[in-house]
Amino acid sequence: MHNKNNTQKAAHIIANGGLVAFPTETVYGLGANALNAEAVAKIFALKERPSFDPLIVHIDTFDWLEKLTKNTAPEIIPFLEHFMPGPLTVVLEKSDIVPPIVTSGLNTVGIRMPNNDIARELIRLSGCPIAAPSANKFGQLSPSSAAHVRKQLPNVDYILDGGNTQVGIESTIITFNDKECTLLRPGIITPEEITKYLPEGYTFTTKKIESIIAPGLLQSHYSPKKPLFIFDTLPENFPPHSGLILHKTMETPIVERCIFTSHTGNLVEVAAQLFSSLHTMEDDNSVEHIYIQAVAENGLGVAIMDRMKKAAFQYKPAP
Ligand code: AMP
Ligand code: MG
Repeated sequence: MHNKNNTQKAAHIIANGGLVAFPTETVYGLGANALNAEAVAKIFALKERPSFDPLIVHIDTFDWLEKLTKNTAPEIIPFLEHFMPGPLTVVLEKSDIVPPIVTSGLNTVGIRMPNNDIARELIRLSGCPIAAPSANKFGQLSPSSAAHVRKQLPNVDYILDGGNTQVGIESTIITFNDKECTLLRPGIITPEEITKYLPEGYTFTTKKIESIIAPGLLQSHYSPKKPLFIFDTLPENFPPHSGLILHKTMETPIVERCIFTSHTGNLVEVAAQLFSSLHTMEDDNSVEHIYIQAVAENGLGVAIMDRMKKAAFQYKPAP
């Protein structure tokens, strides 16, 4: 488990061009020195991530935001200060110190300040911003514990264990285009909250900007290695070897395994347990196919359904 020496050891590895998986409040990240192109290249290799998928750069202070970006409108700084540290990534014009490999050649960079003491301490001790996508193999389930990382990336230089992550799904991503703020990926910070704190004269939109590639928006992503089906109404019968994931206590049909992400339908709990419940079903050899209950698509439910649909993309709706 976590202690200060572990963070120091991890920082030493980052500072020397190695890879460290580390906890954030959203999911575990696979980090490298964001200013070292060779180190960042190792992230793409280990994750088997296509080079067109840009990485988020994690920072511990606003000084780094200033160094890593340029032409940032001063009026959005108080807005960013409201949400940072926190599960929000902002895509801004990048400065020259950011190697192109980090941003997949885009002239913008995604910046985030994690609301996790271990993550920020790691960045501070490393002395550099840390480029980090989620610590999973490309396309597979995101990790919300050190064990999930170990399962997919056993060869990472070091795993900094900070227990289970609290938010459980990846950050909300936004970008700015003049006075328009656009949602690139839904997360626990909702459009309603973002709109509330936007500077005077700014508008918010969820429409996609064609010129921006945000591969987190690919239709298939975050998938378990077993068929996954989403249902609205609980079917009366399930085939043998079914794993069932529910978000509210209810009478359940006979299944091989049943997991409740929440007993009350609390969406914060559902988000926190979503990937973890899918990992458990993936790891259970008696489960051959997974059935997961849908949630209402508003508020945080938008982000939860986004992840669920991507995880289930290859499969037709539940019968
Ligand atoms: P991951 O950390 O694995 O969830 O991946 C980070 C995601 O952030 C990418 O898949 C993109 O969707 C998004 N992203 C990072 N940088 C940028 C950028 N410069 N422009 C648009 N999207 C970005
Ligand atoms: Mg990811």
